[in-house]
This record gives sequence, structure tokens and C-alpha cells, in this order.
Amino acid sequence: MKRKRVIILGAGISGLTTAWYLSKTGVPLDIVILEKSPRAGGWMHTDHTTGFHFEKGPRTFKVDKCPSTMKLIAELGLQEEVIWSEARPHHRYLWLDGELQRFPTNPISFLFSPLTKGFIRALLTEWKRPVKNGDETVWEFVLRRFNYDVARLFFDPMVVGIFGGDIRQISIRACFPKLKAWEEQYGSVTKGFYRRMQEKKKESKYSQDIEGVPLSAIFSFRGGIEQLPQSILGQIPAAVRYNQEVKEIQFEEDRVIAVTDGEQFTADYLFCALPVKETGRLFEPHVPDISKEFSKIPSEGIAVINFGYDANVLPVQGFGYLTPTYAHEDILGVVFDSSVFSEHNRRPQETRLTIKMEDNGRTEEKYVEAALKGIRRHLGVSRMPKAISFKRTQRAIPQYGVGHLEKMAELKQRFRTRIPNCQLVGNYLQGVSVDMCVARAKEAVEEWKSSLV
Ligand SMILES: Cc1cc2nc3c(=O)[nH]c(=O)nc-3n(C[C@H](O)[C@H](O)[C@H](O)COP(=O)(O)OP(=O)(O)OC[C@H]3O[C@@H](n4cnc5c(N)ncnc54)[C@H](O)[C@@H]3O)c2cc1C
Repeated sequence: MKRKRVIILGAGISGLTTAWYLSKTGVPLDIVILEKSPRAGGWMHTDHTTGFHFEKGPRTFKVDKCPSTMKLIAELGLQEEVIWSEARPHHRYLWLDGELQRFPTNPISFLFSPLTKGFIRALLTEWKRPVKNGDETVWEFVLRRFNYDVARLFFDPMVVGIFGGDIRQISIRACFPKLKAWEEQYGSVTKGFYRRMQEKKKESKYSQDIEGVPLSAIFSFRGGIEQLPQSILGQIPAAVRYNQEVKEIQFEEDRVIAVTDGEQFTADYLFCALPVKETGRLFEPHVPDISKEFSKIPSEGIAVINFGYDANVLPVQGFGYLTPTYAHEDILGVVFDSSVFSEHNRRPQETRLTIKMEDNGRTEEKYVEAALKGIRRHLGVSRMPKAISFKRTQRAIPQYGVGHLEKMAELKQRFRTRIPNCQLVGNYLQGVSVDMCVARAKEAVEEWKSSLV
């Protein structure tokens, strides 16, 4: 087969896994990845420059929620580098009525926790509530099937934690697909949950891809999250060109040309693994109707602040805490990194915290000030951190509104028909998680390969 040239735009996890799966197709390829920044990995970014182990984006993954990533790890031979810990002992908290309340972890605490009162009431009637087909917001779904307390105390903080988003805007099908499927399949979330528990009893409790790792575990890597993109980078036969911001794409007969400042790159095929706004902007001259739809997808901004202390300053141990929207706190959530993966600690006594805040255009100084004030009130921590790291992005996480998944499926199809030598990958298409980015990259490469014959 004649050698083909492929350009991939963006060296985040979507772009890198695209290169990985392309390299496994057996098709002779020359792959070039064009990346705007001086590093690969995109949001998967581990920072050791302060003397502490800080994660700037994702920090943990749950084994049973990451089937594609687990397979990828096995393919890369990275199993020995995985560090994992049982999710269950890591207590999670909610900032409620001026104090941290622990989410229940067993039936007794479930019955007596102030966080679950609404749940117990709802469970008595949820199974007989009427079914509604079709997508809706998480808020509407939870109010319809459960009640106001369950929506504001359980689902609101979860939506903030996953999407940094608004429960009144986010799609139930995109954010909690299982819950919606249980309603549609069994007529009730409770019944679906019960059936799933019964099925689980018969299934293996361990990952099929990495020996000995329980499905309920959360994991990272010895070198931090960035070890995954770095490992791909070290194994793909692709040339990565850094500091190459793609400004324009041109299509000429069977060729595609990516234009950066002062350079042009020509190929037979293009995979675009850029954030949605950038994708919309680059394809505007070629498919204006599709680009317009991409440009309409809102993306939530986020400020991520890491604090490192050379002492144990936490009053409680656990995974961390979230704040519900109605509390109007500056802090959206805090992860107790040093408790979750003590393997990453560099001192016998150390605390590492990650604080997530909504991006509302403040200066770095003001964000840090607000974070310090917040943890003083929530955790009683008044000591100054020894190291501080800060990252703010205006458009970090695409927001999946009602009907998003159906809309993206339709746009992807239309895009392929109009531009057959280009594939779209990225976190706005099928899911924002790293696992969904990996799954989409694999699917896009399979679609591309099947179009060759
Ligand atoms: C703070 C935060 C925490 C998160 N936590 C989790 C988590 O715990 N678990 C989880 O599964 N997911 C999490 N996510 C989501 C997940 O990390 C992202 O959805 C995923 O990493 C996106 O990968 P990507 O490759 O599609 O995009 P990106 O990582 O954004 O990569 C895109 C790349 O394209 C480059 N680029 C942009 N424009 C151009 C251009 N014009 N030319 C060339 N290159 C360009 C960028 O520099 C970047 O390297 C989190 C996200 C954030 C923001």
C-alpha cells in the first residue's frame, strides 16, 4: 500500500491516542502532530517544578469507568506504573450549613446522614413514578424521579465536580446515561440500580486488563497523570512539532494543508483533536453551518490552584469535598491529593490540596486570596502554603446541554460526508472524560481505516 501522510492537530490525549491507534492499523503512514504549546498532554499535566507533585487537570481515574483507558494502558505496557487505591475508604464530604458533612459509605450511615434524608423519602416512591422518554436536564430528571433535596445535595455537587457546570443546563443522558437508561428500560432508577447490583455479584470484581486491580479502585501513575501521554509520545512513530499554532486549513483536490505562522504542512488526511471553539473557528470557511453549531457549545472556565504544605494540616482525611451551588462559595471543590495518593508525597509529613474555582476573570492574586480564605473557613487551615501553583482557563470543559449527544452524532456524520479526508476527535463529541476521548480516538481511526477500502 502507498505511504499516506496524516496530520493530527493538537497533542492532548485525543491527538496522541489518535496517533497511537493509527500506528496500529498496519497502514504505512507518515504522521505529523502540530501542537500550539511547547509540551504534549494538553490538560493532562503533572507539575513538579515547585518541589511538590501537583496535577493541573485530571488527577484520578476510576477503574470501572475507564474501560478504554485500561486497555490502552495494557497495550502500552504501562501496567507496572499504575498506582491504585480503593475508592471506598476515601471519604468524600459536602460543605453543608457551615460544616463538612461526610457522604455515607454504608447502610447505617446512609440511614442517619443529614445528606440522605431526601433520598430515603424519594426511594419509597421513585419506583412508581411515571416514565418520561427523551433527554432533559439533570435537574428536571432528579426533581421528577426523586426530589429537591436529592437534586441540590447530591446531584448538584456531582455536576459541579465533573463538568464544573450547572445542573439546570446539563443533559441527563450525557452526564448520567445509566440513570436515564434504567428509567427507560425498567421504569425506575431504583429497579435498575437493584438489577445492576444483582448482576455485579456474578461478575469479576477485578480489571480484565491489569491483574489484581479492583474495578472499584481509583488510579494514577507513579509519575503522575502525565505519564500516560508521555508513554504514548515515547512509542508513537510520529513527528511532533511544538509551538505550531494552526491558523488555517486549506483543502486542495485530495490534499489538506495546515497553515501555521510561517509554515505549511501538507497531507492526505487530517485528524482534528482541538478544543471545540478552535475546531469551529478553523472549519468556518469550509462548513460554516457545522462550525456555527460548534461555536454555540458553551465551555465552562475553571481556575485550578494547588497548595503544598510540609506538614499535615488537614483536620479530616479523605478524597476531598464539594460545595453545592446554593451555598454560593468561591470554592467549587477541594481534592486532598496527599491523602488519595500518598505515593506522590515527597516528605514524611506533607499536604497537597487542589482547589477548583469558577473562572470569573479575577487576577491570580485574588484567586489565591479567595482559596486561602475558603480553606481557612472550611478546613480551619490558616497556615500559608510552602508552594502555590495556579492555572486558569476560560474555556476548559464543554457543557453538554439537552440533546447534545444526538446533535454531535448528527454533526459528525454531516462533517464526514462534506469533508471525507478529515476526522474529528476531542472532548466535545462523546464525553468529556479522558476515557471518552480515548474511545472516540479509537473509533475515529477505525472509521478512517474502513473508508480506505
Ligand atoms: C481541571 C480539569 C480537571 C479534569 N479532571 C478530569 C478527571 O478527573 N477525569 C477525567 O476523565 N477527565 C477530567 N477532565 C477532562 C479531561 O481532562 C479533558 O476532557 C481531556 O484531557 C481533553 O483532552 P483533549 O486532547 O481532547 O484536549 P486538550 O487536552 O485540551 O488538548 C488539546 C491540545 O490542542 C492544542 N491546541 C489548541 N489550539 C491549537 C491550534 N490552533 N493549533 C495547534 N494546537 C492547538 C492545545 O495546546 C492542547 O495541547 C478534567 C478537565 C479539566 C479542565
